[in-house]
Amino acid sequence: MTACIALLVAAGRGSRLGPGTPKQYRQLGGMPILRRAAMRFLAHPRIDHVRVVIHADDGDAYREAVGDLALLPPVPGGASRQDSVRLGLESIEAMAPGQVLIHDAARPFVSAAVLDRVIDALESWEGAIPALPVVDTLKRQATAPGEANAAPEIDGTVERAGLWRAQTPQGFAYSAILAAHRAATGKALTDDAAVAEAAGLRVAMVAGDEDNLKVTTESDLLRSERLLAGGDEIRSGMGFDVHRFCDGDHAMLCGIVVPHTHGLLGHSDADVGLHALTDALLGAIGAGDIGSHFPPSDPKWRGAPSDVFLRHAASLIADAGGRIVNVDVTLICERPKIGPHRDAMRGRIAELLGCAPSRVSVKATTTEELGFTGRREGIAAQAIASVRMPSNN
Ligand code: MG
Repeated sequence: MTACIALLVAAGRGSRLGPGTPKQYRQLGGMPILRRAAMRFLAHPRIDHVRVVIHADDGDAYREAVGDLALLPPVPGGASRQDSVRLGLESIEAMAPGQVLIHDAARPFVSAAVLDRVIDALESWEGAIPALPVVDTLKRQATAPGEANAAPEIDGTVERAGLWRAQTPQGFAYSAILAAHRAATGKALTDDAAVAEAAGLRVAMVAGDEDNLKVTTESDLLRSERLLAGGDEIRSGMGFDVHRFCDGDHAMLCGIVVPHTHGLLGHSDADVGLHALTDALLGAIGAGDIGSHFPPSDPKWRGAPSDVFLRHAASLIADAGGRIVNVDVTLICERPKIGPHRDAMRGRIAELLGCAPSRVSVKATTTEELGFTGRREGIAAQAIASVRMPSNN
């Protein structure tokens, strides 16, 4: 098997979304569009390498967007999209790939099924593109523009039978499309299939996907946000924990050292707030409880900072494609007073979870001197967490 390499074209300036960040680097659901697109290709088992063609000015934005993704080093593009693709193709010549998939980086929702259909078709075609039949009736406007802002007048109806809308990734036998691009230098062709057609290559159309949209305008960005949100659901989890007071001069509470007349007894650092919160997060994704991940019988966790437990729960959520919406912790005790430490606790939890402090609440209450907390024998904590998760998970 010869290698299949994906080239993501991200060298455009995206002027239709206005000045500022080019569209492929804009945030979509908390992640740059380019990163979302790259992850789809990296996750596909039949694609061996992914390279992004970037604008020479975008090195910093690129590095920030892709982070630690396992991509080939980026290459600079040219003055037009067509030049950028040709430069991308030239850059992988030494790797001698069998096939190449050329994709607009501003299409973040390409599905594994579309990738499979394109790659499958390349077994019998020199090129294959995803496309959708045109279903709307097509009108041609009169060439005379009329006065500014006037509604354009219809000049005629265009026969739509046999017309298709081309998407990407467009797949090709590598050496054939490289030769076609070299031959097309200087001609203005709108996509790589047009370059292939001009060279006489046979290109098939496979079923595209309405969700495989190209983010070009602000309304595309809004539609993309809705697509993402539509595939998500909110899940909740709750946690509860108690630790007994013991001799000492401070307690760890929600990740903060709180001076007190007693300490808290426990196998780890006995941070009752972080334990309840860790259980709430694990509960939201059905991932057991703190004891099943960090057994108290394991000496490894003796005196462990509870940061470790909370970070672990947060990483399980991130690995499953989830995001923390908000968390809320209630500490139940007569003493120590929580109020003076509340902001520090919120900040510390936000830092550990990698979210904004506005998504973290820490509250405190007493039990009116009733029960074990009222008798100052220990501290109890309750927590609840809401997590946004992909609903197919
Ligand atoms: Mg505990």
